[in-house]
Amino acid sequence: MNVGIHPKQRLPATILLVNTFLLAFLLSLFGIFTRPLGSLSMFWPVNAILLGLMLRKPGYATPVGWAAIYLGMIAADLTTGEGWPLALWLNACNMALIATGYAVMLLLPQSQRRMGKPQAILYMFTACLLGAAVSATLSVLRNDSLFNNTVINAWISWFSEQFSTNLLILPVLLAAPRLKQLLRLQFYWPWRACLPLLALLFSLVFSVYIGGPGAIAFPIPALLWCAVRYHLFTVTLLALITGVTEIVSISANLMMYEPLSSRGAFMDSLMSARLGIAMLVMGPLILSSSIAVNRKLLRRLEHSANHDFLTGAMARSAFTRKAREMLEYKHQSKEAVSLLLIDIDHFKLINDTHGHVIGDHVLSAFSHILRRELRQDQLFGRLGGEEFAIMMPRALGAQALAMGEYLRRRVENADLNPTGKDPLRITISMGVASLAMNEVKSLEQLMNMADIALYRAKSQGRNRVESFNVVSGNSLTHVIFK
Ligand code: GH3
Ligand code: MG
Ligand code: MG
Repeated sequence: MNVGIHPKQRLPATILLVNTFLLAFLLSLFGIFTRPLGSLSMFWPVNAILLGLMLRKPGYATPVGWAAIYLGMIAADLTTGEGWPLALWLNACNMALIATGYAVMLLLPQSQRRMGKPQAILYMFTACLLGAAVSATLSVLRNDSLFNNTVINAWISWFSEQFSTNLLILPVLLAAPRLKQLLRLQFYWPWRACLPLLALLFSLVFSVYIGGPGAIAFPIPALLWCAVRYHLFTVTLLALITGVTEIVSISANLMMYEPLSSRGAFMDSLMSARLGIAMLVMGPLILSSSIAVNRKLLRRLEHSANHDFLTGAMARSAFTRKAREMLEYKHQSKEAVSLLLIDIDHFKLINDTHGHVIGDHVLSAFSHILRRELRQDQLFGRLGGEEFAIMMPRALGAQALAMGEYLRRRVENADLNPTGKDPLRITISMGVASLAMNEVKSLEQLMNMADIALYRAKSQGRNRVESFNVVSGNSLTHVIFK
């Protein structure tokens, strides 16, 4: 079962055994204690959680991991007074569901198992459908596991519960962000963003209050609205909350029109409602997933439209747009700003000596060095060829100059030879122009100032940083390093 697992993901057998055994044992105990009296399987989330774990952590899906899960579930049954034969049998049915669901999801590449594409939701649907069908079939093969039900009723009861429970829980587990991502999330919810959630809560209350066979569909429009506004994981959570609220309300007979004639009739409508609810929430999930795909695609398109492919720096058009915005903000907030123009020295010689391919590599490696040194709020763009620019918000002339000198040294000392043979070094010349707090200038003027300083750096011998400062009128003062 450990198909396609990276060796790094393989866990030591004892850790695996203890972890999975304990998890299956504790989950099953929890499931047993929260099971409503008199009914075997009103709600059994254990299988869905263990299936989610196996899919999220493929390192657990080894023969030892599978055996530990089975043993953990049996131990929980024995601890709570179940006999050996039934404990072995019922848990074999549970294992059949997990293994079938797992096998179906293996047909998807691992990168897609986290519900990133609508197609993954269809696979998950199939996994739950087949898993529930296989385990329901196994469960009715033994007379003593029918619990005084007819075979058909026992099958439908098992199937509807497991299918709906898995369909509601599995998407949450698969779409859940990793802990690291969760810690990085910023929660910013302006009141407008809460409207879909409020609409969902309202329609849920409304559906329980009105009741009847159609009421299970009442929250769907609000859930679709949530799918448009929120991230996929949030939508899976809301779908789970919606589904569980409705299933619990129906089980508590809060949503039926009139008293049902018999317990049999009640169970029939409960089963039908469970299946209906789980299937209804598939729509918002698929919508949310396709929106997530489109958002990702748009972000990628936007990035490639605004960035230079070779160096990863901003393209000239995007850089000037953002730099203009930064200047506008600077003029309002009365903060300083600095512009650094950078030109690689004798770059033509690099191309002529080492070839264009190495030249390209040098450009990319050079850009990589600078990008690593810059902060998020500093703009770095490629103006063309081997000419780059950095826009530094809130940086006074002296700070920009120090930064320029630091970058010049970093580049001078770096070996950019991709073959790792003889060191290949370059130098850069830089022109710095700064605007003090009250100075107002256009981007073109600032660029011109930096260009004059760059020209001086070149004419003074290259591999140096020059600064342009307008002290009075057009007089130029410069600070020369080196
Ligand atoms: P200077 O010190 O005066 O700046 O000399 P230079 O040789 O760097 O300046 P020049 O403007 O004469 O030459 C720039 C060279 O950069 C010419 C061009 O072939 C090369 N170049 C521009 N874009 C690319 C690119 O994308 N890849 C490669 N490999 N070379 C490029
Ligand atoms: Mg040059
Ligand atoms: Mg040039």
